[in-house]
Amino acid sequence: MRSVAAYTKLWLSLHRGRLRALAVGTLSLVLFLLSWHLLTKYRVNFHVRFINVPSPEMVLESLTKTMRDSKFFMHVMLSCRRIFFGFTIAAIVAVPLGLVMGRFRLVRELAALFAQNSGAIVKAKVTGFGFGPPNENDGGPNSVQTADKSIACDAVVVAAGAWSKKLTAMLGHSVPLDTERGYHVVLRDPETMPRRPISSAEGKFFATPMDGGLRVAGTVEFAGLEAPPDWRRSRMLLRQAQDMFPALARDIGDERLSLWMGFRPSMPDSLPIIGPSRRHRNVVHAFGHGHVGLIGGAMTGRIVAALVDGAAPPIDIAPFRVERFG
Ligand SMILES: Cc1cc2nc3c(=O)[nH]c(=O)nc-3n(C[C@H](O)[C@H](O)[C@H](O)COP(=O)(O)OP(=O)(O)OC[C@H]3O[C@@H](n4cnc5c(N)ncnc54)[C@H](O)[C@@H]3O)c2cc1C
Repeated sequence: MRSVAAYTKLWLSLHRGRLRALAVGTLSLVLFLLSWHLLTKYRVNFHVRFINVPSPEMVLESLTKTMRDSKFFMHVMLSCRRIFFGFTIAAIVAVPLGLVMGRFRLVRELAALFAQNSGAIVKAKVTGFGFGPPNENDGGPNSVQTADKSIACDAVVVAAGAWSKKLTAMLGHSVPLDTERGYHVVLRDPETMPRRPISSAEGKFFATPMDGGLRVAGTVEFAGLEAPPDWRRSRMLLRQAQDMFPALARDIGDERLSLWMGFRPSMPDSLPIIGPSRRHRNVVHAFGHGHVGLIGGAMTGRIVAALVDGAAPPIDIAPFRVERFG
């Protein structure tokens, strides 16, 4: 068992920064009050005419007098009431507005730009593809099927992450795509927060400061698309974060935690499949980005746009050909 002295030493080492800040703050305050007292006592006239400035003693006396006056508290209560109403109205309007605006802001802005440029966004699960007469679209798909409608198309881009295997199978392809499931935990109001993302080389996880708290993400699990999440993995990440940041509380209630599991779309050679299908000329593949889909998405988008337009892609896409799997 640790002794009181050992705990005190640990506490002092953990809070050294805050204690230093407190000492500096206290010293500054004392110096300020002393200077104010001397400047007013000796009625210094240098830039400021301290003859017109009340001394700290006078301010204290006036404060004590005011505090004894019941009218003062009545005015404070009236001000508090106004502030309370103001805050309530602001909270009712601003909190829902902030939640709406804060979520996926970048994605929403990109989607809005797409819609402004005559793009149509349809939120629906693709259940199949329609094929027209052989000479139409070179025999490739000419419609996308959803549960309640069929949408005519000239080209199809398969970019459904780990679910792309099912969609490519519907288009007559077999690709060796699997999923490496990953987890995260977000700790709200953490006792400490790094100023930039930090990676643990031994733990193979990232700790990232986010608007909503401290996010700790990592781990790789092979369990397919259907198995339920194993939340022990998120909790293990939390323990790793507590070891990385000793200032974090050891006992954290569930109300401060948000757990998440996602599907990394992974290929055996860790390279995505980007490029035209070998079966249908109007089908473009864009999936399998594994651990780096967020980073790789922008360039993949540019390549796909060029291919659908019939233009040359901005980089050599030979390494990403689907044909590498036979
Ligand atoms: C814990 C974790 C941490 C990560 N960290 C990073 C990182 O730091 N940097 C980075 O670059 N990447 C990171 N990634 C990887 C990144 O998330 C993936 O590479 C990326 O999400 C893949 O993007 P995607 O658009 O191909 O697929 P997804 O993001 O999976 O999107 C596929 C979409 O297709 C939809 N869909 C599926 N089937 C159908 C259907 N039949 N009809 C219609 N829609 C369908 C799905 O609903 C989904 O919205 C991380 C992943 C995890 C799990």
